[in-house]
Amino acid sequence: MRLVILGPQGAGKGTQSARIVEKYDIPVIATGDMFRWAISHENEVGQEARDYVRRGRLVPDELTIEIVRGRLSQDDASDGFLLDGFPRTLAQAEALDVILEERGQALDAALAIEVPEEVSLRRLLGRRVCSNCGRNYHLDSPPQDNWTCDRCGGKVERRADDDEEATIRERLKNYHDSTEPLKSYYEERDTLRVIPGEGTMDEVFDRIVAAL
Ligand code: AMP
Repeated sequence: MRLVILGPQGAGKGTQSARIVEKYDIPVIATGDMFRWAISHENEVGQEARDYVRRGRLVPDELTIEIVRGRLSQDDASDGFLLDGFPRTLAQAEALDVILEERGQALDAALAIEVPEEVSLRRLLGRRVCSNCGRNYHLDSPPQDNWTCDRCGGKVERRADDDEEATIRERLKNYHDSTEPLKSYYEERDTLRVIPGEGTMDEVFDRIVAAL
């Protein structure tokens, strides 16, 4: 299964992605995680991406496409994958089609999780993330033991780019300006599956499985 998951930040993409990859036994490829990893390891990609990520701006297409191309060529992605956070621009969507075409592959579906902006904002302002395994929590549903991850024992904290309303609004604006138009791109290719993102995690997941 080759999938893309679209949706504004705070739509629950991370949570649903974790469940999708478990059910379909495919790796999740999250460009945001890849950039954060590169930044914390201070490698070349990290140095180039750091200022964009910190300000909630999109990293230039060229660099982003290059890291996705590299990641998709790894063995574990040969039979399927879920791309989370990529593509975010039309150029990235077109590049992904070219990369897949070169391998005689195609996307099975582009899932678009939809929630109103105020819901995204509320979720992001309260979001806390495990710095070790990436599991998401919220101020309203914290880990059981003093901000220590229930799954791996890592430290659960606020993501650096979730700390200011202005940065969050910038990221949501990016989504609406650059990524929302991708829905028509995938609709034209008959791969778009729109998923209402409100309700419980189980309800949203059931909708995804039904759509697939
Ligand atoms: P995310 O974890 O998906 O919210 O991504 C965090 C940040 O990484 C974004 O605000 C961007 O700065 C950068 N980023 C992640 N994916 C992309 C992408 N496909 N294109 C450009 N920038 C990206």
